[in-house]
Amino acid sequence: MAGRRLLILGGTTEAAALARALAEAVDWDVVTSLAGRTRAPAALPGTVRVGGFGGIDGLAEYLRTKRIERVVDATHPFAATISANAAAACALLGLPLLRIERPAWTPGPGDRWIDVADAVEAADWLAGALPAGSAVLLTLGRQEVAPFKRCPALRFVLRSIEPPAAEDLPPDCLLLSERGPFTLESERALIGRHGIRAIVAKNAGGEATAAKLAAAREAAIPVVMIRRPTPPATPVVPDVAGALEWLNRPR
Ligand code: NAP
Repeated sequence: MAGRRLLILGGTTEAAALARALAEAVDWDVVTSLAGRTRAPAALPGTVRVGGFGGIDGLAEYLRTKRIERVVDATHPFAATISANAAAACALLGLPLLRIERPAWTPGPGDRWIDVADAVEAADWLAGALPAGSAVLLTLGRQEVAPFKRCPALRFVLRSIEPPAAEDLPPDCLLLSERGPFTLESERALIGRHGIRAIVAKNAGGEATAAKLAAAREAAIPVVMIRRPTPPATPVVPDVAGALEWLNRPR
């Protein structure tokens, strides 16, 4: 390894795109870190390590022993713990840290969005607003499904990359194990096929999963939008180009 050592905290399209963009760069040796949630992650150039570091101290120890010189936090906007840990560990060591944070989605004319803090609030809104038997599309991770067990009168269609544990499922729940990107046509068809009356989504931002929002607008159904957690006060760029520009800057 001849270049300067960069750690990318990954698990997103942006993290993979940054690793690919740096694959030929002679000045950076890249390690991408994955949490290990996805069983068959896409292949990445450079070194890939998998699994938690063991909190702030574990991450700081890793950064020190691997002599990492810069860190790019390219984790998902909802991965709040690892982002906070990265901010704390980099502050401890005085290491430059940048966060890639794709812009949040914002509602436009014709959208009916219900802003909620988390899946529990989303479930409470659905239980109060929808008649029994209504079908709801959940576009969430497998770990965010359990709160919808409090809506036994509703029918759910859960679209998730990995299936959740059986005990986390609401009583009437159809599983769709699918990974984006999704088209407007396929989202329209999904809403029609299952008679969907509301969609629950996290405000992930980005293009790959935005078609459901346009499809909901067309179908005049509400989107229960889980807002992002508050990020740490780390310098932010919206995309990979911004991160490449930051890496080219002298420290
Ligand atoms: P989280 O709640 O912020 O992290 C929980 C713990 O998982 C962290 O404390 C850390 O363990 C470990 N971890 C998370 N990301 C890691 C990484 N990139 N490398 C090594 N360890 C990591 O995160 P999460 O919501 O469980 O998400 C896990 C991963 O999936 C993230 O990398 C994220 O980019 C990706 N992802 C998340 C979502 C989402 O909606 N949350 C969606 C798409 C992709 P230690 O404390 O032991 O270090």
